[in-house]
Amino acid sequence: MTVAAILSKKGRDVVTVPVDLSIAEVVQILATRRIGAVVVTDSAQRILGIVSERDVVRALARGADALVGSVSSIMTAKVVTCTDGHTINDVMTRMTEGRFRHLPVVEGDRLAGIVSIGDVVKARIEQVEREADEMRAYIAMA
Ligand code: AMP
Repeated sequence: MTVAAILSKKGRDVVTVPVDLSIAEVVQILATRRIGAVVVTDSAQRILGIVSERDVVRALARGADALVGSVSSIMTAKVVTCTDGHTINDVMTRMTEGRFRHLPVVEGDRLAGIVSIGDVVKARIEQVEREADEMRAYIAMA
Protein backbone atom coordinates (compact mmCIF):
# COMPACT_ATOMS: atom_id res chain seq x y z
CA MET A 1 0.00 0.00 0.00
CA THR A 2 1.23 3.49 -0.86
CA VAL A 3 0.95 6.97 0.64
CA ALA A 4 -1.45 7.82 -2.23
CA ALA A 5 -3.77 4.99 -1.12
CA ILE A 6 -3.75 6.22 2.49
CA LEU A 7 -4.49 9.79 1.38
CA SER A 8 -7.26 8.71 -1.01
CA LYS A 9 -9.27 7.64 2.06
CA LYS A 10 -8.02 10.19 4.56
CA GLY A 11 -7.95 13.28 2.34
CA ARG A 12 -5.18 15.77 1.70
CA ASP A 13 -6.11 18.56 4.11
CA VAL A 14 -3.19 19.66 6.28
CA VAL A 15 -3.42 22.14 9.15
CA THR A 16 -0.76 24.75 8.47
CA VAL A 17 0.38 27.85 10.34
CA PRO A 18 2.45 30.90 9.38
CA VAL A 19 5.94 31.22 10.82
CA ASP A 20 5.11 34.27 12.95
CA LEU A 21 2.18 32.69 14.85
CA SER A 22 2.65 32.55 18.62
CA ILE A 23 3.22 29.23 20.38
CA ALA A 24 0.08 29.91 22.48
CA GLU A 25 -1.96 30.10 19.24
CA VAL A 26 -0.42 26.85 18.01
CA VAL A 27 -1.41 25.19 21.30
CA GLN A 28 -5.03 26.32 20.70
CA ILE A 29 -4.97 24.87 17.17
CA LEU A 30 -3.49 21.53 18.30
CA ALA A 31 -6.17 21.27 21.02
CA THR A 32 -9.21 22.33 18.97
CA ARG A 33 -8.27 20.30 15.88
CA ARG A 34 -7.27 17.30 18.04
CA ILE A 35 -3.97 16.83 16.20
CA GLY A 36 -0.37 16.31 17.27
CA ALA A 37 1.47 18.55 14.82
CA VAL A 38 1.09 21.46 12.43
CA VAL A 39 3.16 22.23 9.38
CA VAL A 40 4.66 25.72 9.14
CA THR A 41 4.34 27.06 5.60
CA ASP A 42 4.91 30.26 3.62
CA SER A 43 2.19 31.94 1.55
CA ALA A 44 2.91 29.58 -1.37
CA GLN A 45 2.33 26.51 0.85
CA ARG A 46 6.03 25.66 0.81
CA ILE A 47 7.19 23.90 3.98
CA LEU A 48 9.28 25.98 6.40
CA GLY A 49 9.09 23.64 9.38
CA ILE A 50 7.00 21.37 11.57
CA VAL A 51 5.86 21.82 15.18
CA SER A 52 4.54 18.97 17.26
CA GLU A 53 3.22 18.75 20.81
CA ARG A 54 6.71 17.54 21.84
CA ASP A 55 8.22 20.88 20.78
CA VAL A 56 5.59 22.69 22.84
CA VAL A 57 6.33 20.52 25.90
CA ARG A 58 10.07 21.22 25.54
CA ALA A 59 9.34 24.96 25.33
CA LEU A 60 7.11 24.78 28.42
CA ALA A 61 9.89 23.01 30.33
CA ARG A 62 11.82 26.30 30.01
CA GLY A 63 8.90 28.18 31.62
CA ALA A 64 5.34 29.26 30.72
CA ASP A 65 6.75 32.53 29.30
CA ALA A 66 7.80 30.48 26.27
CA LEU A 67 4.18 30.55 25.03
CA VAL A 68 4.53 34.18 23.91
CA GLY A 69 7.38 33.30 21.55
CA SER A 70 6.75 32.64 17.87
CA VAL A 71 6.48 29.21 16.34
CA SER A 72 9.75 29.76 14.47
CA SER A 73 11.63 29.51 17.80
CA ILE A 74 10.51 25.91 18.44
CA MET A 75 9.82 24.40 15.00
CA THR A 76 12.01 21.76 13.39
CA ALA A 77 13.22 23.42 10.19
CA LYS A 78 14.78 20.36 8.57
CA VAL A 79 11.61 18.48 7.71
CA VAL A 80 11.71 14.91 6.43
CA THR A 81 8.96 14.36 3.84
CA CYS A 82 7.61 11.66 1.54
CA THR A 83 5.72 11.51 -1.75
CA ASP A 84 2.59 9.72 -2.99
CA GLY A 85 4.60 6.80 -4.36
CA HIS A 86 6.24 5.82 -1.08
CA THR A 87 5.05 2.60 0.57
CA ILE A 88 3.89 2.08 4.16
CA ASN A 89 7.23 0.39 4.82
CA ASP A 90 9.13 3.46 3.54
CA VAL A 91 7.06 5.69 5.83
CA MET A 92 7.57 3.40 8.85
CA THR A 93 11.33 3.37 8.19
CA ARG A 94 11.50 7.18 8.01
CA MET A 95 9.44 7.61 11.18
CA THR A 96 11.48 5.02 13.09
CA GLU A 97 14.87 6.36 11.98
CA GLY A 98 13.85 10.01 12.57
CA ARG A 99 11.98 9.24 15.84
CA PHE A 100 8.92 11.27 14.84
CA ARG A 101 5.27 10.48 14.21
CA HIS A 102 4.37 12.84 11.38
CA LEU A 103 5.46 12.86 7.76
CA PRO A 104 4.31 15.64 5.42
CA VAL A 105 3.67 14.56 1.83
CA VAL A 106 5.03 16.77 -0.95
CA GLU A 107 4.46 17.15 -4.68
CA GLY A 108 7.49 19.03 -5.96
CA ASP A 109 8.03 21.73 -3.35
CA ARG A 110 4.33 21.96 -2.38
CA LEU A 111 2.59 20.37 0.59
CA ALA A 112 0.17 17.66 -0.61
CA GLY A 113 -0.92 15.89 2.59
CA ILE A 114 0.36 14.47 5.86
CA VAL A 115 0.65 10.94 7.20
CA SER A 116 0.72 10.28 10.93
CA ILE A 117 1.81 7.14 12.76
CA GLY A 118 -1.89 6.51 13.46
CA ASP A 119 -2.64 6.46 9.70
CA VAL A 120 0.24 4.04 9.15
CA VAL A 121 -0.86 1.64 11.92
CA LYS A 122 -4.47 1.71 10.60
CA ALA A 123 -3.33 0.99 7.02
CA ARG A 124 -0.99 -1.80 8.18
CA ILE A 125 -3.76 -3.51 10.21
CA GLU A 126 -6.13 -3.33 7.20
CA GLN A 127 -3.40 -4.82 5.00
CA VAL A 128 -2.73 -7.71 7.42
CA GLU A 129 -6.48 -8.42 7.77
CA ARG A 130 -6.92 -8.40 3.97
CA GLU A 131 -4.02 -10.83 3.53
CA ALA A 132 -5.47 -13.14 6.22
CA ASP A 133 -8.90 -13.09 4.49
CA GLU A 134 -7.26 -13.93 1.15
CA MET A 135 -5.32 -16.78 2.75
CA ARG A 136 -8.48 -18.16 4.40
CA ALA A 137 -10.37 -17.97 1.08
CA TYR A 138 -7.48 -19.71 -0.71
CA ILE A 139 -7.35 -22.53 1.89
CA ALA A 140 -11.15 -22.96 1.74
CA MET A 141 -10.95 -23.40 -2.06
CA ALA A 142 -8.28 -26.14 -1.86
P1 AMP B 1 6.44 13.91 16.74
O1 AMP B 1 6.86 12.52 17.13
O2 AMP B 1 5.91 13.96 15.33
O3 AMP B 1 5.53 14.54 17.74
O4 AMP B 1 7.75 14.83 16.67
C1 AMP B 1 8.88 14.66 17.50
C2 AMP B 1 9.94 15.70 17.09
O5 AMP B 1 10.31 15.50 15.71
C3 AMP B 1 9.51 17.16 17.19
O6 AMP B 1 10.66 17.93 17.56
C4 AMP B 1 9.08 17.54 15.78
O7 AMP B 1 9.27 18.90 15.47
C5 AMP B 1 10.00 16.66 14.95
N1 AMP B 1 9.36 16.19 13.71
C6 AMP B 1 8.10 15.71 13.57
N2 AMP B 1 7.86 15.34 12.31
C7 AMP B 1 9.02 15.56 11.63
C8 AMP B 1 9.42 15.38 10.27
N3 AMP B 1 8.61 14.86 9.34
N4 AMP B 1 10.68 15.77 9.93
C9 AMP B 1 11.52 16.28 10.85
N5 AMP B 1 11.21 16.46 12.13
C10 AMP B 1 9.97 16.11 12.54
